[in-house]
Amino acid sequence: MGGEFILATRNAGKLREFNHAFEGTGISFVSLEAIPDAPDVEETGDTYEKNAFLKARAVAIHTGKPTLADDSGIEIDAMPGELGVKSARFRPGFPYSEINDIVLDRVNNSDVGRGARYVAVIAFVDPVTGREEKTSGICEGLIHDRQAGEGGFGFDPIFFMTEYGKTMAELGLDIKNRISHRAIAISRLKEILLTGVK
Ligand code: IMP
Repeated sequence: MGGEFILATRNAGKLREFNHAFEGTGISFVSLEAIPDAPDVEETGDTYEKNAFLKARAVAIHTGKPTLADDSGIEIDAMPGELGVKSARFRPGFPYSEINDIVLDRVNNSDVGRGARYVAVIAFVDPVTGREEKTSGICEGLIHDRQAGEGGFGFDPIFFMTEYGKTMAELGLDIKNRISHRAIAISRLKEILLTGVK
């Protein structure tokens, strides 16, 4: 399968990541920035999967084209139920430098340890054939004892990868785009779309 697919996001970083991953496959993506009157879909689902499919189905119906959407978040052992699928809506309006200080304070004063994981789910919808697919990826890490690094976004300055001895923000995009939750989910979806094998 090939052609131009829609990526149901306005995030230019995500668009670059998907196009990079599918380079040379015959599949390329345009984002919602290129779609006039694209629907603004509210993430009302209580799981990553529900939100990813809410976005993918709405945009697929609007455009008539095969559409991918992702939903992601961070899960922190010391803050059960507070982030996860709601990560983007934690302390709305606060800059991540402040949000990360809040998280550091909570984790430093907790006795359940520093465990954390990023989770990503990608939904694929083809409105012509009705085909739907879903993949997910998990990236395990620890909450660091301070903020470090300038790269990435969101929680990356406090998300510590023990294998590398660095935070995600210190690792740089080349490595992040190989090991992240989203990279894992993208590579699984690529496999399914190109080979048809799950
Ligand atoms: P969404 O998938 O665009 O709805 O965003 C989910 C939220 O999870 C983001 O706003 C961040 O707070 C967090 N998040 C997801 N992936 C990452 C990542 O790779 N680095 C840092 N934060 C992330």
